Amino acid sequence: MNCVPCEGDGDEACANCGKLGSDAVKLKNCTACRLVKYCGVDCQRAHRKKHKKACKQRVAELKDEQLYSQGHERPEVDFCPICTLPIPLPTDEHSVFMPCCMQTICVGCSVAAKKRGMFDCAFCRTTPLDDDTDTLAKIQARVRKNDPAAINFLGQKYYHGKEGLQKDMRKAVELFTEAAELGSIQALSNLGNAYFRGDGVQQDKARAVEFFAKAAMRGHVDSRHNLGHIEVEKGNHDRAVRHWLISAKMGEECSLESIKEAFMAGLATKEQYAEALKGYQDAVEEMKSHDRDEAKALLGGNLTEALGGYLRSKCQKSADEMKSLPQRDEAKEESHCSPRSGGTSLAG
Ligand SMILES: [Zn+2]
Ligand SMILES: [Zn+2]
Ligand SMILES: [Zn+2]
Ligand SMILES: [Zn+2]
Repeated sequence: MNCVPCEGDGDEACANCGKLGSDAVKLKNCTACRLVKYCGVDCQRAHRKKHKKACKQRVAELKDEQLYSQGHERPEVDFCPICTLPIPLPTDEHSVFMPCCMQTICVGCSVAAKKRGMFDCAFCRTTPLDDDTDTLAKIQARVRKNDPAAINFLGQKYYHGKEGLQKDMRKAVELFTEAAELGSIQALSNLGNAYFRGDGVQQDKARAVEFFAKAAMRGHVDSRHNLGHIEVEKGNHDRAVRHWLISAKMGEECSLESIKEAFMAGLATKEQYAEALKGYQDAVEEMKSHDRDEAKALLGGNLTEALGGYLRSKCQKSADEMKSLPQRDEAKEESHCSPRSGGTSLAG
C-alpha cells in the first residue's frame, strides 16, 4: 500500500531539504536512529537541532528493545557438562568448579560419581589437586593460554584474597576486564559489581549498569536481577518488573519474590505475578534430576566437606519453603537480594 512519496515527505526524501533520492542523490540514514535520511552531511548538520530529540528517543527505544528481548535463556556455562541440565540458582551453591578442567559440575553429578567410588574429577577424571599452590599453578597455566574462565577465576581469587593470594581489587578488575573481552559472561557481571561498589575502581553506577546489561543480555541471571533493583532505586518500577519477570522465568527466586512484593504494593499486575510464578516453577522443574534430589537428601547441610571442591554453601530454599518466607521490609531486602554479587560465583 505504498504511495509514491511526495516531495519533501516520506521515507525516501532528505529530512532537511526534501530532495528525493535518485541515482544522483544518494540518501543516507541517520546512523543512530535510522529514522530519517539525508542527502548529505550539510543537511544532516542543519537538521540536527530539530532531529535531536526524536533521534535520542528512538536510540533509547532501540536499546531497550535489545535489553529486554535478549538473554532469556541460560548461557552455556550454566549447564552441567555431565548431565547437560541447567544448574539450579544460585549456581555457586549448586555446583563445584573443577580447576583441573575449568568445568562447573552440578552437585548431583559430583555426588553421584563419589557414590560410585570415583573420587577423581567427575568430568576429566584427573586426581584432585592437593592444595592451593597446585590449584593456583594450574589456573595460572590456563591464564597464560588466555582461557577466559581461568582469568575470571584468578580475578575472583584476587578480589577475595584467596588461595594464598594477597587481596588486590585493582588486579582483580584488570583480570575481569581481560576475561570479559575474551567472552566471559561472569566477568562482565563481576565488573558490574566492582563498578557498583567502587571496588578497585572509582565507583560508577552508570558503568555498572552497562556491564550488568551486557551480561544480562547474554543470559546472566544475577545481572538481570540486579538491573531490576537498580531500576527500583531510580523509582522505575515498571522497568524493574520487566527485568525480574525475565530472571524469575529463568528460575531465579529473589526475582520472583521481588515481583510478588511489587504486586502486593500495587506496582506489578496480578498477570505479571502469575506469569513469573508459572515461569519460575517451570524453570525449577527443568533443573531437577534424580541425582540432584539425592545429593540434597544425602548430604544435607554439609556439602562442602563431602565434595571437597569449591562448593560455597547449600541453598536451603525450595519453592515450597519460599511460600512461607516472611515479608521482607525494604532494608532487609537490600541485604538478602540486592544487588547480588557475582564475585563469589565460580562459574566462568
Ligand atoms: Zn538535503
Ligand atoms: Zn537520528
Ligand atoms: Zn550434572
Ligand atoms: Zn576435571
